[in-house]
Amino acid sequence: MAGLVRELLIALGEDPLREGLLDTPARVAAWWRDFLSPDPSATLTCFTETRASDQLVVVGGLSVWSLCEHHMLPMKLEGHVGYLADGRVLGLSKFGRIAQHCARRLQMQERFTCQLAEAVATAIRSQDVAVLVRGVHLCMSMRGVRMETARTSTVQLGGRLKTDPVLAQQFLTLTTAGQRGPG
Ligand SMILES: [Zn+2]
Repeated sequence: MAGLVRELLIALGEDPLREGLLDTPARVAAWWRDFLSPDPSATLTCFTETRASDQLVVVGGLSVWSLCEHHMLPMKLEGHVGYLADGRVLGLSKFGRIAQHCARRLQMQERFTCQLAEAVATAIRSQDVAVLVRGVHLCMSMRGVRMETARTSTVQLGGRLKTDPVLAQQFLTLTTAGQRGPG
């Protein structure tokens, strides 16, 4: 990979031997290796909590960086996950790890949204999962139409969070309220 980055620098009209660029190929290659190897310790433990039956749990602020597969430019994705805790509760710190895991690859926001929902559904063994993602795409802000304030929202609703309009509305209200933060 370092060799390819060196060739890219040459194609960009740069001199890979000038001082500032000497270590760039190795540095870029190391970054790619790290980016594409998300934390393998993302084991998903669920806790049994029989009193938490039918409780809507919403975890927001899952902020991750990913790369748009069309332009290989960064996109910042903020995920909000909701699910019905029906005797099984997923440890709160796990959501961030699942989001990281889904983000560290060449992605599309739409697919990230689905993969996040599927991973949570697998962990809690239920389809009652909703995911809302808001994204800022550098391919929109720094190239093409250059809309710096553009935000893309994607929503995936599953199970009862899809079929029950009251639950769906509760999820969407909570994720919007979460935008303001505590206090
Ligand atoms: Zn793009």
